[in-house]
Amino acid sequence: MIKKSGLTVTAYMVLISGMFLTSCSSFTNRPVEKQSFNMGTIITQKVYGKNAQKAVDEVIARIQEIERKMTINAEGSEIDAINSMAGKEEVNLGEDTVYVLECAKKYAELSEGAFDVTVGPLVKAWGIFTDHPRVPPQDEINGLLPLVNYRELSTDSKKSSAKLSRQGQIVDLGGIAKGYTGDEVIKIYRKYGIKSGYINLGGNVVVIGSKPDGKPWSIGVQNPRAENGKYIGILKVIDKSIVSSGDYERFFEKNGKRYHHILDPETGYPSESGLISTTIVSDASIDGDALSTATFVLGLDKGMKLVENLNGVEAVFITSDKKVYTTPGLKNVFTMEDESKEYKYVEKR
Ligand code: AMP
Ligand code: MG
Repeated sequence: MIKKSGLTVTAYMVLISGMFLTSCSSFTNRPVEKQSFNMGTIITQKVYGKNAQKAVDEVIARIQEIERKMTINAEGSEIDAINSMAGKEEVNLGEDTVYVLECAKKYAELSEGAFDVTVGPLVKAWGIFTDHPRVPPQDEINGLLPLVNYRELSTDSKKSSAKLSRQGQIVDLGGIAKGYTGDEVIKIYRKYGIKSGYINLGGNVVVIGSKPDGKPWSIGVQNPRAENGKYIGILKVIDKSIVSSGDYERFFEKNGKRYHHILDPETGYPSESGLISTTIVSDASIDGDALSTATFVLGLDKGMKLVENLNGVEAVFITSDKKVYTTPGLKNVFTMEDESKEYKYVEKR
């Protein structure tokens, strides 16, 4: 099983900020840089400002708190409680878990079920997060498909509770929880008066402000068929979330075929929509996370349509024939920088 992150804050940017430091090396301009491992991924923070250290430490504590509540992999999490009580009882939850579930349902409706957090039984059958992923037999998939239905996940924000209708149903927040976390991180940065910094949660990048020199941050869009850190283009952004989903992030191969971690709730198989990478640029990272997964499953045409109907949401889509499509709003934000020279930029059809 291979795990790569989808976005890199580019070497170019690191170089520029390094130059800034040597010409202007007061203590407060030195960033706090911290790497941690949570939510099954490497998390990198780079934060400027006099309260940067406090902010970075509080962020790690908050990430751990969200992970404890929302992980599917540990007994005692709130998501584990919903899943164990499926078909039996409604479960009392923290405000944040209910919020994420309700947002997930909103994107399930908007994507007509392409994004569906009740995909859990299929994720489990494929063993996507285990050391022994497998291709489940067709009759097993057929048996599980009816369990995948976001309409059977009921939430009650007043009572702060949720329930799955039937036994065997499983909620998996892997496609949205990191996005929510990114938004919570930015709240903490703001609380500490941070004006410049970023967090990279394994390919979910959220930047606050601009670089210390006032220029936008440069975020590289991963080349989906090259090693981690090789990009096909650059997004220049201030105060934005950039989230990628891709078939290169987590996959295994069997008999020469790639099986990845983003499942099509209609077929029960890894999505084969013709897209191999989707990147969403938005203000809220929870929106970007749900939408990157949703559009990946929807494919180029339906994915574009969905994104274009939403205000303030932009996208970069890469197809299996190595064409790069962007929404018109990225005209001055995205530039192709493709060392491999294999990708063709089709701005917007
Ligand atoms: P992401 O990397 O954000 O695209 O999310 C992929 C993860 O979300 C997978 O590892 C699964 O845990 C979960 N997932 C897979 N397929 C779907 C889907 N169609 N809708 C919602 N979540 C999904
Ligand atoms: Mg996602």
